[in-house]
Amino acid sequence: MTWDLHFLGTGAAHAVELGSSAVVLERDGRPLLLVDCGPDTLDRYLAAYGEPPPALYVTHVHMDHVAGMERLFFRLWFDEALRGRTKVFVHAALLPWLQGRVADYPGALAEGGVNYWEAFRLVPCTRGFWHEGLWFDVFPTRHHVQGTSYGLALRGSFVFTGDTRPVPEALAIHGAAGELVAHDCGVVGNPSHTGVDDLEREYPADLRDRMALYHYGSVEDGETLVARGYRIARPGERLALPEPHAPRPTAG
Ligand SMILES: [Zn+2]
Repeated sequence: MTWDLHFLGTGAAHAVELGSSAVVLERDGRPLLLVDCGPDTLDRYLAAYGEPPPALYVTHVHMDHVAGMERLFFRLWFDEALRGRTKVFVHAALLPWLQGRVADYPGALAEGGVNYWEAFRLVPCTRGFWHEGLWFDVFPTRHHVQGTSYGLALRGSFVFTGDTRPVPEALAIHGAAGELVAHDCGVVGNPSHTGVDDLEREYPADLRDRMALYHYGSVEDGETLVARGYRIARPGERLALPEPHAPRPTAG
C-alpha cells in the first residue's frame, strides 16, 4: 500500500500563484481526504481527480481555507449520485464560525427548498475522527483567536499543522512517531504564522528534518527556505508518506 500527501496549493493567503494551501491524502493513488477548500481548491482537485472529494477536513475558517465550499455545495447538490455523500469533518468549536462563513446566507439556492448542509454529511469532531478505517487525531493550534484552528495527524504517517504559530507541545505528541510534518512557514513569522527563526527556536533538529514547509509568501520565498536548508512542498507535488500505524484501541 502506498501513501502520499498531494499538495494542491502551498501559498499564503496573498500568494495566489501558489494556490490556496490544501492537501489530499492519497492511498494507492486514490484520494481519501481533502484538507481545506480555498477559492481555487475545487478546480485543482477536479483537475487531478475528475470528481469532487469523498471527504473534507477543515482546519479553520479563514476564507483561503473555506471559500471553495460554496461552489462545492452546488457541485454536490445538483448531482444526485453525490448529494449528501461528501463527509465534512470539522472541530465542533468551529461550527458557529463555519456556519456564518458558508451556510448562513439566506437561501442556499435562489429557488429555495434546500439547506446548505443537506448537500454534505457533516461530522463534527473534538479529539479526532474515524475515516476509512483510520483514526485521525485533531489538535489545537495557534492561529488568531484561541480555539479557532485545529491541525490533523495520522499516527506514524503525517501531521498537517494548518495555519499556525509553532506548536511544539502538539508535535511532541503527534509528531513523535516518524511522521512527515507539513508545517506552516514563511521566511519571516508574524502573530499568526511561523517563520524560519521560529522553527529553529522551537523544534529539535530531528523534527525539523521531517518537515515539509508550505504556506510561504511567493515562489522566491520558497527558494529562500530551501536555501536555508529546508524542504518545501511545491504546488502539485506529491510527497510519499510512511505507512500509518494501526489505530490505538483507545482511539475515538
Ligand atoms: Zn488562516
